[in-house]
Amino acid sequence: MQHHKVVIIGSGPAAHTAAIYLSRAELHPVLYEGMLANGIAAGGQLTTTTDVENFPGFPAGIGGSELMDAMRAQSLRFGTHVVTSTVSHLNLRKRPFELQLEEEDAASISADAVILATGASAKRLHLPGEEKYWQSGISACAVCDGAVPIFRNRELAVIGGGDSAAEEALFLTKYGSAVHVLVRRDKLRASSIMAKRLLAHPKIRMHYSCEAIECRGDGSLLTSLCIRGTTGAKEVTELPVSGLFYAIGHEPATQLVRGQIEVDADGYIRTEPGTSRTNVEGVFAAGDVQDKKYRQAVTSAGTGCIAALEAERWLSERETPVVVEERQAVNGSGQTYKENPQL
Ligand code: FAD
Repeated sequence: MQHHKVVIIGSGPAAHTAAIYLSRAELHPVLYEGMLANGIAAGGQLTTTTDVENFPGFPAGIGGSELMDAMRAQSLRFGTHVVTSTVSHLNLRKRPFELQLEEEDAASISADAVILATGASAKRLHLPGEEKYWQSGISACAVCDGAVPIFRNRELAVIGGGDSAAEEALFLTKYGSAVHVLVRRDKLRASSIMAKRLLAHPKIRMHYSCEAIECRGDGSLLTSLCIRGTTGAKEVTELPVSGLFYAIGHEPATQLVRGQIEVDADGYIRTEPGTSRTNVEGVFAAGDVQDKKYRQAVTSAGTGCIAALEAERWLSERETPVVVEERQAVNGSGQTYKENPQL
């Protein structure tokens, strides 16, 4: 059995930021970056995109894979042991925690502390033509991709009927000439305030009770989206859109800890507000796996830093518990009692 003080599971900005902090603190972290875990390459979601234009420090933008290669190199530089394997089992009911890798039969690794940074993935419809035009007109993040030139003054479409869809569509009105919002049901699920804002916007075109059936393009970029009604009508309408944005939810990667850790109604790991602490002592969560609101590279990196600092503090408190001696004190009535200065 190999034992480590702290292991990190994941390989996106949250995992590597945690690794940089923990290795600089000489805690010798081991980072399991996964082997196409969850269908995503080591390096995480940013490896599936071209230019990242909103990560600070890169005024001309940087390729998603290039940014992740740089983060990995920085983790290695300070001594993180990066293992290209997927963690297939994690037992949080035992102390130390036990891990098993996909290619091994028995639990062979143990750790005092664990940082979960397994990320999330956007739900997609996998329409005909979608794979070809993914990131060439099709995206799942308006904040990340909306500002690129191919969407400026063009018609765009958002699929979804909840608050995220309303938010994405409103954001896209800054760039597109019109934004079509496609809703499967006959009404929006969004909160009434978001729905009101959406419906009042002059660039928004609502399409209820409809579904997208095909993405079409010119061979290099998306040029239209075929839609039809969900109420039995066979008629197909071709919307001339240059951009399609999915806003039908994300799937946090929590299979490893299902039933062992507290998650919210949407399956995201719950952390104490303002921290990365989970309800299991010694287990910290960072990045998209615990963040359903912002889901950005820089916020993931920020929570990775928090997780590392909290794990470091937690480990050092266990190693050198503070011994506080009781001392004699006198109360208001002149009686003596033993006071614990820590309380
Ligand atoms: P992720 O990036 O989700 O990575 C998690 C990693 O953990 C994955 O590689 C996965 O394989 C691995 N993993 C999962 N389970 C296991 C396991 N059991 N064992 C080992 N490894 C495991 N954000 C921006 O700020 N700017 C942008 O321009 C931008 N563009 C984007 C474009 C696209 C197409 C997408 C999909 C996202 C984009 N984002 C962007 C969002 C950004 O990528 C995410 O917010 C960020 O990557 C989340 O980081 P994370 O550290 O939580 O983990």
